[in-house]
Amino acid sequence: MSIFDFLASTPLAFVFVMLLIGLLVGSFLNVAVYRLPLMMQADWKRQAHEFLELPAPARGETFNLILPNSSCPHCGHEIRPWENIPIFSWLALRGRCSACKARISTRYPLVELACGLLSAYVAWHFGFGWEAGAMLVLTWGLLAMSLIDADHQLLPDALVLPLLWLGLIVNHYELFASLDDALWGAVAGYLSLWSVYWVFRLVTGKEGMGYGDFKLLAMLGAWGGWQLLPLTILLSSLVGAVIGTLLLRRRDAGTSTPIPFGPYLAIAGWIALLWGDQITGTYLQFAGFK
Ligand SMILES: [Zn+2]
Repeated sequence: MSIFDFLASTPLAFVFVMLLIGLLVGSFLNVAVYRLPLMMQADWKRQAHEFLELPAPARGETFNLILPNSSCPHCGHEIRPWENIPIFSWLALRGRCSACKARISTRYPLVELACGLLSAYVAWHFGFGWEAGAMLVLTWGLLAMSLIDADHQLLPDALVLPLLWLGLIVNHYELFASLDDALWGAVAGYLSLWSVYWVFRLVTGKEGMGYGDFKLLAMLGAWGGWQLLPLTILLSSLVGAVIGTLLLRRRDAGTSTPIPFGPYLAIAGWIALLWGDQITGTYLQFAGFK
Protein backbone atom coordinates (compact mmCIF):
# COMPACT_ATOMS: atom_id res chain seq x y z
CA MET A 1 0.00 0.00 0.00
CA SER A 2 1.50 3.32 -1.05
CA ILE A 3 1.25 6.53 0.99
CA PHE A 4 -1.33 7.81 -1.52
CA ASP A 5 -3.52 4.71 -1.11
CA PHE A 6 -3.30 5.21 2.64
CA LEU A 7 -4.31 8.90 2.47
CA ALA A 8 -7.12 8.11 0.02
CA SER A 9 -8.56 5.36 2.22
CA THR A 10 -8.09 7.17 5.57
CA PRO A 11 -9.76 10.62 5.39
CA LEU A 12 -8.66 11.64 8.90
CA ALA A 13 -5.00 10.94 8.07
CA PHE A 14 -5.28 13.15 4.99
CA VAL A 15 -6.90 15.93 7.07
CA PHE A 16 -4.16 15.67 9.69
CA VAL A 17 -1.34 15.68 7.12
CA MET A 18 -2.87 18.74 5.42
CA LEU A 19 -3.21 20.48 8.80
CA LEU A 20 0.55 20.08 9.35
CA ILE A 21 1.45 21.05 5.78
CA GLY A 22 -0.95 24.01 6.05
CA LEU A 23 0.84 25.25 9.19
CA LEU A 24 4.19 25.11 7.36
CA VAL A 25 2.77 26.82 4.28
CA GLY A 26 1.29 29.50 6.59
CA SER A 27 4.77 30.11 7.97
CA PHE A 28 6.09 30.57 4.42
CA LEU A 29 3.13 32.83 3.54
CA ASN A 30 4.07 35.14 6.44
CA VAL A 31 7.45 35.62 4.76
CA ALA A 32 6.02 35.96 1.24
CA VAL A 33 3.37 38.48 2.33
CA TYR A 34 6.06 40.63 3.89
CA ARG A 35 8.68 40.31 1.14
CA LEU A 36 6.73 40.22 -2.14
CA PRO A 37 5.56 43.88 -1.90
CA LEU A 38 9.12 44.97 -1.03
CA MET A 39 10.46 43.06 -4.04
CA MET A 40 7.83 44.72 -6.25
CA GLN A 41 8.73 48.18 -4.94
CA ALA A 42 12.42 47.58 -5.64
CA ASP A 43 11.49 46.46 -9.15
CA TRP A 44 9.31 49.54 -9.80
CA LYS A 45 12.12 51.77 -8.59
CA ARG A 46 14.59 50.10 -10.95
CA GLN A 47 12.14 50.45 -13.87
CA ALA A 48 11.45 54.10 -13.06
CA HIS A 49 15.19 54.85 -12.97
CA GLU A 50 15.63 53.10 -16.30
CA PHE A 51 12.72 55.01 -17.87
CA LEU A 52 13.96 58.37 -16.58
CA GLU A 53 17.47 57.46 -17.74
CA LEU A 54 18.80 57.91 -14.21
CA PRO A 55 21.71 55.79 -12.94
CA ALA A 56 20.44 52.41 -11.74
CA PRO A 57 19.65 52.33 -7.98
CA ALA A 58 22.40 50.77 -5.87
CA ARG A 59 22.06 47.00 -5.69
CA GLY A 60 21.58 45.91 -2.09
CA GLU A 61 21.92 42.46 -0.61
CA THR A 62 20.15 39.59 -2.35
CA PHE A 63 16.50 39.80 -1.30
CA ASN A 64 13.89 37.33 -2.51
CA LEU A 65 11.33 34.92 -1.06
CA ILE A 66 14.06 32.51 0.08
CA LEU A 67 17.05 34.73 0.97
CA PRO A 68 18.18 36.15 3.34
CA ASN A 69 17.05 34.05 6.33
CA SER A 70 14.37 35.70 8.49
CA SER A 71 15.62 37.88 11.30
CA CYS A 72 14.18 39.97 14.14
CA PRO A 73 13.26 43.44 12.77
CA HIS A 74 14.35 45.02 16.09
CA CYS A 75 17.80 43.54 16.73
CA GLY A 76 18.65 41.60 13.54
CA HIS A 77 18.90 38.30 15.44
CA GLU A 78 18.70 35.55 12.83
CA ILE A 79 15.76 33.19 13.41
CA ARG A 80 17.10 29.71 14.13
CA PRO A 81 15.23 26.61 12.86
CA TRP A 82 13.75 25.72 16.26
CA GLU A 83 12.42 29.30 16.56
CA ASN A 84 10.66 28.87 13.22
CA ILE A 85 8.26 26.02 14.03
CA PRO A 86 4.72 27.24 13.25
CA ILE A 87 2.73 28.41 16.33
CA PHE A 88 4.77 26.22 18.69
CA SER A 89 7.84 28.48 18.61
CA TRP A 90 5.77 31.61 19.13
CA LEU A 91 4.13 30.02 22.17
CA ALA A 92 7.45 28.67 23.51
CA LEU A 93 9.03 32.13 23.17
CA ARG A 94 5.86 33.71 24.64
CA GLY A 95 5.61 35.96 21.60
CA ARG A 96 9.04 37.59 22.10
CA CYS A 97 12.36 37.58 20.24
CA SER A 98 14.79 35.21 22.02
CA ALA A 99 17.62 37.78 21.80
CA CYS A 100 16.13 41.24 22.47
CA LYS A 101 12.71 40.25 23.89
CA ALA A 102 10.88 42.56 21.46
CA ARG A 103 7.28 41.49 20.87
CA ILE A 104 6.55 39.31 17.83
CA SER A 105 3.14 40.16 16.37
CA THR A 106 0.30 37.71 17.12
CA ARG A 107 -0.48 37.96 13.43
CA TYR A 108 2.26 35.43 12.56
CA PRO A 109 0.91 32.49 14.59
CA LEU A 110 -2.66 33.47 13.65
CA VAL A 111 -1.87 33.31 9.91
CA GLU A 112 -0.18 29.92 10.44
CA LEU A 113 -3.18 28.65 12.40
CA ALA A 114 -5.67 29.98 9.81
CA CYS A 115 -3.69 28.39 6.97
CA GLY A 116 -3.50 25.06 8.82
CA LEU A 117 -7.24 25.01 9.60
CA LEU A 118 -8.30 26.10 6.10
CA SER A 119 -6.06 23.42 4.55
CA ALA A 120 -7.44 20.77 6.90
CA TYR A 121 -10.99 21.83 6.02
CA VAL A 122 -10.33 21.63 2.26
CA ALA A 123 -8.88 18.14 2.78
CA TRP A 124 -12.00 17.15 4.74
CA HIS A 125 -14.40 18.72 2.24
CA PHE A 126 -13.03 17.10 -0.92
CA GLY A 127 -11.16 14.04 0.38
CA PHE A 128 -7.89 12.91 -1.18
CA GLY A 129 -7.73 13.78 -4.89
CA TRP A 130 -7.10 16.42 -7.55
CA GLU A 131 -9.95 18.71 -6.38
CA ALA A 132 -8.39 18.96 -2.93
CA GLY A 133 -4.92 19.56 -4.39
CA ALA A 134 -6.09 22.34 -6.70
CA MET A 135 -8.26 23.94 -4.01
CA LEU A 136 -5.35 23.93 -1.55
CA VAL A 137 -3.18 25.88 -3.99
CA LEU A 138 -6.03 28.36 -4.55
CA THR A 139 -6.64 28.69 -0.80
CA TRP A 140 -3.00 29.51 -0.09
CA GLY A 141 -2.93 32.02 -2.95
CA LEU A 142 -6.12 33.73 -1.78
CA LEU A 143 -4.81 33.93 1.79
CA ALA A 144 -1.53 35.52 0.64
CA MET A 145 -3.19 38.07 -1.67
CA SER A 146 -5.81 39.02 0.95
CA LEU A 147 -3.10 39.83 3.48
CA ILE A 148 -1.03 41.80 0.93
CA ASP A 149 -4.11 43.73 -0.19
CA ALA A 150 -5.04 44.50 3.43
CA ASP A 151 -1.49 45.75 4.10
CA HIS A 152 -0.77 47.66 0.89
CA GLN A 153 -4.03 48.00 -1.11
CA LEU A 154 -2.27 45.94 -3.74
CA LEU A 155 -3.18 42.65 -5.45
CA PRO A 156 0.06 41.41 -7.09
CA ASP A 157 -0.28 40.19 -10.69
CA ALA A 158 2.44 37.70 -9.77
CA LEU A 159 -0.18 35.88 -7.64
CA VAL A 160 -3.48 36.64 -9.38
CA LEU A 161 -2.57 35.89 -13.00
CA PRO A 162 -0.90 32.47 -12.53
CA LEU A 163 -3.94 31.40 -10.51
CA LEU A 164 -6.22 32.64 -13.30
CA TRP A 165 -4.40 30.40 -15.79
CA LEU A 166 -4.40 27.54 -13.28
CA GLY A 167 -8.20 27.88 -12.93
CA LEU A 168 -8.62 27.47 -16.69
CA ILE A 169 -6.21 24.53 -16.71
CA VAL A 170 -7.89 22.60 -13.88
CA ASN A 171 -11.26 23.15 -15.55
CA HIS A 172 -9.86 21.76 -18.78
CA TYR A 173 -10.29 18.58 -16.70
CA GLU A 174 -13.70 19.87 -15.47
CA LEU A 175 -12.57 19.84 -11.83
CA PHE A 176 -14.96 22.60 -10.69
CA ALA A 177 -16.72 23.79 -13.87
CA SER A 178 -16.74 23.09 -17.61
CA LEU A 179 -13.98 24.83 -19.57
CA ASP A 180 -16.65 26.84 -21.39
CA ASP A 181 -18.19 28.12 -18.15
CA ALA A 182 -14.71 28.85 -16.77
CA LEU A 183 -13.73 30.88 -19.84
CA TRP A 184 -16.87 33.01 -19.69
CA GLY A 185 -16.48 33.19 -15.92
CA ALA A 186 -13.10 34.86 -16.37
CA VAL A 187 -14.43 37.26 -19.01
CA ALA A 188 -17.63 38.17 -17.14
CA GLY A 189 -15.77 38.44 -13.83
CA TYR A 190 -13.40 41.03 -15.24
CA LEU A 191 -16.00 42.99 -17.22
CA SER A 192 -18.61 43.15 -14.46
CA LEU A 193 -16.36 44.98 -11.99
CA TRP A 194 -14.70 46.95 -14.79
CA SER A 195 -18.08 48.41 -15.79
CA VAL A 196 -19.08 49.11 -12.17
CA TYR A 197 -15.75 50.94 -11.78
CA TRP A 198 -16.31 53.14 -14.84
CA VAL A 199 -19.96 53.94 -14.03
CA PHE A 200 -18.95 54.83 -10.47
CA ARG A 201 -16.03 56.90 -11.72
CA LEU A 202 -18.05 58.79 -14.33
CA VAL A 203 -20.86 59.51 -11.85
CA THR A 204 -18.84 60.39 -8.74
CA GLY A 205 -15.39 61.17 -10.13
CA LYS A 206 -13.91 58.76 -7.54
CA GLU A 207 -12.18 55.43 -7.90
CA GLY A 208 -14.02 52.81 -5.83
CA MET A 209 -11.73 49.86 -6.50
CA GLY A 210 -8.64 48.92 -8.43
CA TYR A 211 -7.82 46.88 -11.52
CA GLY A 212 -6.51 44.16 -9.21
CA ASP A 213 -10.09 43.56 -8.07
CA PHE A 214 -11.26 42.96 -11.67
CA LYS A 215 -8.47 40.45 -12.20
CA LEU A 216 -9.26 38.73 -8.91
CA LEU A 217 -12.93 38.27 -9.86
CA ALA A 218 -11.85 37.06 -13.32
CA MET A 219 -9.64 34.53 -11.55
CA LEU A 220 -12.52 33.35 -9.34
CA GLY A 221 -14.72 33.06 -12.44
CA ALA A 222 -12.05 30.91 -14.09
CA TRP A 223 -12.19 28.52 -11.12
CA GLY A 224 -15.94 28.34 -10.49
CA GLY A 225 -17.45 29.29 -13.86
CA TRP A 226 -19.68 32.30 -14.58
CA GLN A 227 -22.53 30.80 -12.53
CA LEU A 228 -20.49 31.49 -9.40
CA LEU A 229 -20.16 35.25 -9.97
CA PRO A 230 -23.52 36.64 -8.72
CA LEU A 231 -23.21 34.71 -5.45
CA THR A 232 -19.57 35.80 -5.06
CA ILE A 233 -20.43 39.48 -5.47
CA LEU A 234 -23.40 39.18 -3.11
CA LEU A 235 -21.34 37.37 -0.48
CA SER A 236 -18.46 39.85 -0.81
CA SER A 237 -20.72 42.74 0.17
CA LEU A 238 -22.02 40.70 3.12
CA VAL A 239 -18.48 39.82 4.23
CA GLY A 240 -17.49 43.46 3.68
CA ALA A 241 -20.38 44.70 5.81
CA VAL A 242 -19.50 42.34 8.67
CA ILE A 243 -15.74 42.95 8.64
CA GLY A 244 -16.19 46.67 7.93
CA THR A 245 -18.39 47.03 11.02
CA LEU A 246 -15.89 45.13 13.16
CA LEU A 247 -13.00 47.27 11.90
CA LEU A 248 -14.88 50.54 12.36
CA ARG A 249 -15.54 49.66 15.98
CA ARG A 250 -11.86 49.11 16.61
CA ARG A 251 -10.72 52.17 14.70
CA ASP A 252 -10.79 55.75 15.99
CA ALA A 253 -13.52 57.82 14.38
CA GLY A 254 -12.01 60.27 11.91
CA THR A 255 -9.38 58.07 10.32
CA SER A 256 -10.42 57.10 6.83
CA THR A 257 -7.91 54.47 5.77
CA PRO A 258 -9.40 52.85 2.67
CA ILE A 259 -10.58 49.30 3.31
CA PRO A 260 -9.51 47.18 0.33
CA PHE A 261 -12.11 45.10 -1.49
CA GLY A 262 -9.77 42.22 -2.44
CA PRO A 263 -9.96 40.25 0.83
CA TYR A 264 -13.79 40.37 0.75
CA LEU A 265 -13.85 39.07 -2.82
CA ALA A 266 -11.31 36.37 -1.92
CA ILE A 267 -13.30 35.17 1.11
CA ALA A 268 -16.60 35.31 -0.82
CA GLY A 269 -15.16 33.42 -3.81
CA TRP A 270 -13.72 30.73 -1.54
CA ILE A 271 -17.06 30.25 0.24
CA ALA A 272 -18.94 30.20 -3.08
CA LEU A 273 -16.56 27.57 -4.51
CA LEU A 274 -16.97 25.28 -1.50
CA TRP A 275 -20.67 25.74 -0.69
CA GLY A 276 -22.12 27.61 -3.68
CA ASP A 277 -24.55 24.84 -4.64
CA GLN A 278 -25.86 24.40 -1.10
CA ILE A 279 -26.28 28.17 -0.57
CA THR A 280 -28.12 28.67 -3.86
CA GLY A 281 -30.21 25.52 -3.26
CA THR A 282 -31.25 26.64 0.22
CA TYR A 283 -32.09 30.09 -1.06
CA LEU A 284 -34.23 28.75 -3.92
CA GLN A 285 -36.02 26.47 -1.46
CA PHE A 286 -36.79 29.38 0.87
CA ALA A 287 -37.92 31.53 -2.03
CA GLY A 288 -40.32 28.75 -3.04
CA PHE A 289 -38.73 27.85 -6.38
CA LYS A 290 -38.15 24.23 -5.37
ZN1 LIG B 1 15.26 40.77 18.47
